[in-house]
Amino acid sequence: MIHIEDKKECCGCWACYNACPKHCIGMKEDEEGFRYPVVDASLCIDCGLCEKVCPVIHADKADTPHAQQGFLAQHKNEDIRKESTSGGAFTAIASWIIRQGGIVYGAGYRKGTFIVEHQGVETEKDLSVFRNSKYVQSNVMNTFKEALGHLKAGRWVCFSGTPCQIEGFRSFLRGREYEKLVCVDLVCRGIPSPRILTRYIEAQQALIGGEFTNVLFRDKHYGYHYSSFSIYNKEKGKDYHKGVDSNAYLRAFFNNLSDRPSCYDCRFKKRYRRSDLTLWDCFPIEKFTKQMDGKGTTRVLVQSEKGEMIMNATGSELRTVRVEPDKLVSDVREMFHSVPMNPQRGQFFKDCNVLPPADFFRKWFPITWKVRLNAFVRLTCHRLGVYTFAKRMFMLVYTRKDDRK
Ligand SMILES: Cc1cc2nc3c(=O)[nH]c(=O)nc-3n(C[C@H](O)[C@H](O)[C@H](O)COP(=O)(O)OP(=O)(O)OC[C@H]3O[C@@H](n4cnc5c(N)ncnc54)[C@H](O)[C@@H]3O)c2cc1C
Ligand code: SF4
Ligand code: SF4
Ligand code: SF4
Repeated sequence: MIHIEDKKECCGCWACYNACPKHCIGMKEDEEGFRYPVVDASLCIDCGLCEKVCPVIHADKADTPHAQQGFLAQHKNEDIRKESTSGGAFTAIASWIIRQGGIVYGAGYRKGTFIVEHQGVETEKDLSVFRNSKYVQSNVMNTFKEALGHLKAGRWVCFSGTPCQIEGFRSFLRGREYEKLVCVDLVCRGIPSPRILTRYIEAQQALIGGEFTNVLFRDKHYGYHYSSFSIYNKEKGKDYHKGVDSNAYLRAFFNNLSDRPSCYDCRFKKRYRRSDLTLWDCFPIEKFTKQMDGKGTTRVLVQSEKGEMIMNATGSELRTVRVEPDKLVSDVREMFHSVPMNPQRGQFFKDCNVLPPADFFRKWFPITWKVRLNAFVRLTCHRLGVYTFAKRMFMLVYTRKDDRK
């Protein structure tokens, strides 16, 4: 039976939970707010299935080449593109599945809450729940089992998520191939703890008041290049938008404080995946093409013939430009390398559990004059239309030569 000794050895994909024939695995929250499998030994029959489906135990670190194709993609519907993290390619792919009578799985808020969990969607309208990256680990729940049921019934199924979730789903299927299954994964920097998000929302609730109607981690309120953490409020004039320079939640994420332990030694960082399509951002669009604007572009790496068929089928909804796969992945550090664990991470989580939420975030991310100045300069550059240029100059001056490769 599965037993986690080193937390880095469990990415929280829920494959074991979905596979157990005796339903004796619970996914229990630890002191950092991440869920891990816990077996009720009195019910376990020692069948070993949980270990067989674990993608971490069976991780294939080899990056074995297969044929790939590269695209830059932008959704032609500007509202959809604005709501999406990058170019909205995921919505176009998912819409195609729904038009075939299929079902799409992805990460969205549980209705009426800010708890992120995987769920199935069957209408194009409902696909909006998946748009915009949620920088918090999604609870997969029993969606692997649910999706398998639909595949067995002969329906099209699109399953999307982080690379470890897609590897977990593939392992759960145990080598069975389904003609109508499409897996979509992302380039993934890491995944923060749901507890940090809950505390952050509590802190903001106390500061801002009113009723929060939506929380976006990568809002294009100020544009794609200067995206913000946004909280939308039912009360007029109380909406909140702050960039990575001054938002405590994003600062914790990008300072590598809040990720799951497995993310600091991720087994799924590679180019050649078991998904059909891999999606991620494209900030330096001008490096690739002059035909597209800077309002958000998805990079799409086609990993299979099915992925290619779907990219061709989304032609009426997406503007696309072909790019050599080698060029598409050449500057993508997060595709190949885990982020380093911040040495202060242990204290960060300890404080999270003992300090009142507002004090906790104030202690770790005080709003100093330097922070205010940084935010002011960035916003001003953005308003003057020189943000991308200024950012590139800053990177050129301050980034080490090795890091720019
Ligand atoms: C946690 C996380 C880390 C990422 N890290 C990077 C990175 O380092 N570099 C980079 O270039 N791109 C990264 N991305 C990918 C990028 O943010 C976009 O998801 C991608 O460009 C696709 O955007 P889109 O506009 O096509 O679709 P969107 O509509 O914005 O994407 C929605 C898709 O993201 C999935 N999703 C959203 N939140 C989660 C979640 N919490 N868990 C699992 N799946 C989720 C949805 O299920 C759906 O498939 C990350 C995404 C996530 C969720
Ligand atoms: S060994 Fe079998 S019964 Fe026991 S926890 Fe694992 S899957 Fe469940
Ligand atoms: S990585 Fe997935 S399958 Fe393996 S123990 Fe963790 S939750 Fe279970
Ligand atoms: S960094 Fe790796 S382990 Fe962490 S969520 Fe992403 S794919 Fe999973």
